[in-house]
Amino acid sequence: GAGGTARLLEGLNPEQHAAVSLPAEPALILAGAGSGKTRVLTTRIAWLLATGQVSPGGLMAVTFTNKAAKEMLHRLSAMLPVPVRGMWIGTFHGLCNRFLRAHWKLAGLPQGFQILDTGDQLSAVKRVIKAMNLDEQRFVPKQVSWFIAARKEEGERPSDVDARDPNTRTMVEIYRAYEEQCQREGVVDFAELMLRTYELMRDQPALREHYQHRFAHILVDEFQDTNRLQYRWLKMFAPPENTGERARGTLRQSVFAVGDDDQSIYAFRGAQVGNMADFEREYRVRHLIKLERNYRSFGNILDSANALIAHNSKRLGKNLSTEAGPGEPVRVHEATSDYAEAQWLLEEAQGLHRGGLARSEIAILYRSNAQSRVMESALFNAGVPYRVYGGLRFFERAEVKHALAYLRLVENPNDDTSYLRVVNFPTRGIGARTLELLQDAARQSGRSLYQSVSAVAGKGGANLLGFNGLIDGLREATRGLTLREIIEKMLATSGLLDFYRTEKEGQDRIENLEELVNAAEAFVTQEGFGKDAVALPVDEIGPGTLADRREGPDGIAPAPVAPLAPDAETGEIMSPLAAFLTHAALEAGDNQAQAGQDAIQMMTVHSAKGLEFDAVFITGLEESLFPHENAMSDTDGLEEERRLMYVAITRARKRLYLSYSQTRLLHGQTRYNVKSRFLDELPEGALKWLTPRNQGFGSGYAKEYQQAWQRGTGPGGIVGAGRQDNRPPSWRRDSGGDSGDGKRVPWGGRDGYGAGRDAPLTGGG
Ligand code: ATP
Ligand code: MG
Repeated sequence: GAGGTARLLEGLNPEQHAAVSLPAEPALILAGAGSGKTRVLTTRIAWLLATGQVSPGGLMAVTFTNKAAKEMLHRLSAMLPVPVRGMWIGTFHGLCNRFLRAHWKLAGLPQGFQILDTGDQLSAVKRVIKAMNLDEQRFVPKQVSWFIAARKEEGERPSDVDARDPNTRTMVEIYRAYEEQCQREGVVDFAELMLRTYELMRDQPALREHYQHRFAHILVDEFQDTNRLQYRWLKMFAPPENTGERARGTLRQSVFAVGDDDQSIYAFRGAQVGNMADFEREYRVRHLIKLERNYRSFGNILDSANALIAHNSKRLGKNLSTEAGPGEPVRVHEATSDYAEAQWLLEEAQGLHRGGLARSEIAILYRSNAQSRVMESALFNAGVPYRVYGGLRFFERAEVKHALAYLRLVENPNDDTSYLRVVNFPTRGIGARTLELLQDAARQSGRSLYQSVSAVAGKGGANLLGFNGLIDGLREATRGLTLREIIEKMLATSGLLDFYRTEKEGQDRIENLEELVNAAEAFVTQEGFGKDAVALPVDEIGPGTLADRREGPDGIAPAPVAPLAPDAETGEIMSPLAAFLTHAALEAGDNQAQAGQDAIQMMTVHSAKGLEFDAVFITGLEESLFPHENAMSDTDGLEEERRLMYVAITRARKRLYLSYSQTRLLHGQTRYNVKSRFLDELPEGALKWLTPRNQGFGSGYAKEYQQAWQRGTGPGGIVGAGRQDNRPPSWRRDSGGDSGDGKRVPWGGRDGYGAGRDAPLTGGG
């Protein structure tokens, strides 16, 4: 009722209030961190629903991270008694996946298509390079992967790429072969999810018309980080007036974009701040609202953020103020080594927790994933529960990927990546020679490996047939079972459990596999993918609700809603297994098994975007780490790093810690560091140094320190030659480094969580 609607708007300031209740027209909310952009966006959804202007199926909202999407659903369900599941609220990738699941046939994909994560994509690229007999030194798989992703993010297929030099031409050839391979295997990578959806909308007028009629409101958070393809994608769903893509008879659609140019941190991945200007122009935005009051952070934190970002030249220009007091000073800490930094951080975080702060309100942020391990090690050894977003991923551990590969083959046996991963794991007498023959045969016939086994003769061929039989049998045997039963059956039938039982260090792995079952269970409960929820209606609102939005010009009857593609009309989106596998690929950072536990939050600054915590640690504030060395050589790069630092600082509500270390072991090398220039850009009055303020690397102490290091007699017995031996065992085990392709050894068994919960602090060395 009206009272409920009024309550929704309570507490908003006048600008926020105006933004929430704008008419259904294009709007841009441009405002700094913590000014309530996301709150405005979420409240607007609630307001639109509560006032009956739109039904839950008639709007789409896009955010950037899974965590942010979850947060939005959470906030929304707290505001309104609406069934948020089923609403089109999610990340770009998540929504594209949903779209392609509904229209797989039109999109030219198998129904059980699988999603390649970054690691899978890399190994797929490697296979292509090998098959083309190219030199991996010249065509470095990682670079090729980036090339392909970048092309796709520009909306370019191989034939669209303007290849002028021989090198680029070869890259394009790899791109083409990679595409063919993916198509054959029925797999799509992250960028492909976007591009396929975009192309389908572009090329299928009926589909376009359907969705344009359907979504009266499209809301985009973090608009500053959309890339070119995402913006074009958006224009397919809600084109500006008077453009060719616009379906006839569509009443005005409203695109509501919120963003902050100072938080644009994906330019390196092709994000275009320019999209904001384009949006304003192309959509003829008449509602441009700025929000200038920050509700998140205390004064000292905000002053630091403002002072830092003022060093950037390319800004649209806006400032933030708060009515909260200055709060506590921003604490700065200098450590002698990364190890010492982690110990300090551990003690400080434990202190905060003892002081009454929930662990989930403490965030540890870092510039690069590789930095997290030292800190994880410290937390792990102290038995402090923590949770890592991105980085060390549960779903990327070898044993989990093996298990997932079997499950993916059950869904889609033509997924060659998965096939190769487990065809001889555990061993089934299928050697390299047999696999080569199989791959040759598959390549020649343009079929999948699974489809090509009959081409291989002899014992190897018989063993391959046996493997195919195993997969087929598993598919038969798991029909109609619950997700948990499917996974248990697979673990037993595949021989994975038996294999790890006999392996020396297999216990950890078995525990991880058990965690996979738990993760599936948690997924089913959370997502409501029960046994009877197999068929989900694609279109949860009937066409009837569209009628009130459609009106023809001059009273002419509106164009009828085009019939949907047959596959979409069956209403099937995906089976619980398919949904779970998608979840494993898209939300690789989340360990659902332990989702409810109060744990310290660890993540890169990039993945902290949009989030907030009572206490935030920004670690590793060192030149060439943050700002990152790859970005230091030019102004644009440096300004992007500074925006990243701005994002990091503005995550904190009450307490902010900044730390750096004189030395750091990274990628197997010891670095001697100078503190980040960003520290010098902060207002001295807002800071409190916890360690004596050091003048930088040239200072006497640092020199002495470096010499001591070289002599192998580091100060305090923490560093130097004895350092490795002073480290806890799990540290040594993990020093082998990171292969980057899912073969990372999980140290301590269950990364992400301390084993002994709440173990008393052991003095910290
Ligand atoms: P970011 O740029 O970091 O994404 P944002 O602009 O999206 O930030 P929000 O996350 O929406 O900001 O809001 C920041 C905090 O301020 C939240 O805790 C939110 O609930 C609170 N907040 C926003 N507006 C108000 C208000 N009018 N009154 C009280 N609290 C508010
Ligand atoms: Mg936000």
